[in-house]
Amino acid sequence: MATVRIPRQKVILCGDYGVGKSSLFRRFTNNTFVSESDRKSTLGLDHIDREYKVGDKQIKLQLWDTGGMERVASVTSSYYKFAEGAILVFALDNAASFHSLSQHLLDIVTYAENAKIFICGNKSDLEGREPEVSDEEVEAFCEQCHTLISATYKTSCKIGEGIDEMFQDISRQLVQAN
Ligand code: GDP
Repeated sequence: MATVRIPRQKVILCGDYGVGKSSLFRRFTNNTFVSESDRKSTLGLDHIDREYKVGDKQIKLQLWDTGGMERVASVTSSYYKFAEGAILVFALDNAASFHSLSQHLLDIVTYAENAKIFICGNKSDLEGREPEVSDEEVEAFCEQCHTLISATYKTSCKIGEGIDEMFQDISRQLVQAN
């Protein structure tokens, strides 16, 4: 059976500085992780394409990263424009980054009105520490947002957990939406 190709889907990473957006981007790109000391300091938006297979369909995700722009300036509306998917990232060991999600969500619904929205709690490698954000809090946030959030995920860029599963599931959801 011939493979059906879905048009390229723009997916943006959103969330506070330091939650792991560039690390997710790096895992998506070449499945690597770098520690704080090796973190690149160059600023700028970046994007890369990667293909996923969903049944007999082939989908190309184009993942966008802010490249740390949010630290020095607000991310421009062009970042959001024409996004089919948006991943709201927070860090499980940083409650403040979770509380910022509503502001990031507002930006998404304003500038990327048709995007499917996903939540990613990153840094799940807590090594015995309690998370600062519970599953119940994430669930309650999703309920408050009614049907705006399509799915939630937990990932660790450090140990490479949950990341491929997340991008596979996002691919599946975007295939369904097409
Ligand atoms: P960004 O500002 O959102 O792009 O965040 P970065 O990807 O630059 O990550 C911020 C810091 O968190 C860096 O020191 C990363 O090495 C670290 N980091 C990213 N993801 C993880 C993770 O899953 N677990 C842990 N322990 N550290 C992470």
